[in-house]
Amino acid sequence: MKVDHIGIAVRSLAEAKAFYEALGLACAGEEEVSGQKVRVAFFPAGDSRLELLESTDPEGPIGTFIARKGPGLHHLCLAVPRIREAMAALKARGYTLIDEEPKVGAGGHLVAFVHPKSTGGVLLELTERKTE
Ligand code: ZN
Repeated sequence: MKVDHIGIAVRSLAEAKAFYEALGLACAGEEEVSGQKVRVAFFPAGDSRLELLESTDPEGPIGTFIARKGPGLHHLCLAVPRIREAMAALKARGYTLIDEEPKVGAGGHLVAFVHPKSTGGVLLELTERKTE
C-alpha cells in the first residue's frame, strides 16, 4: 500500500500548473473525468503524485468544495491491492463509505471515497490501479 496521490482543488488548472512547473515538477498528463465533473492534471513527485482538480461544473464535488471552503487540500488517496476487499473491511467495522461500489476514476483506475467522519476529518480515496 502507498500514497497514490494527494488531491488539491484549484480554481484554475492553468495557474496551478504554472506554480508546480515553476517548482520544477513536470505535468504527466491531463484528463477530464466526467463522472466526477473535474478536469485533472497529474504531477509525479517521487513515488507519489499531486492531482490538481479543476471543477467543470459548479454543482460537482469540486465546484461545491471550492464554493464552501475555497481551493486547497481536498483528499488523500491510498492505493490498495484489492479495492472491494478494502471497502468490505471498512464497512464491516462500521466505517462510512461515500461510494457503495467502486467507480472508474482518472486513468481508468477503480476508486472509492471514504467519508471524513470515519477518518478523522480526511476525505480518503482508495484506488486499485488497473495495471497492477
Ligand atoms: Zn484523487
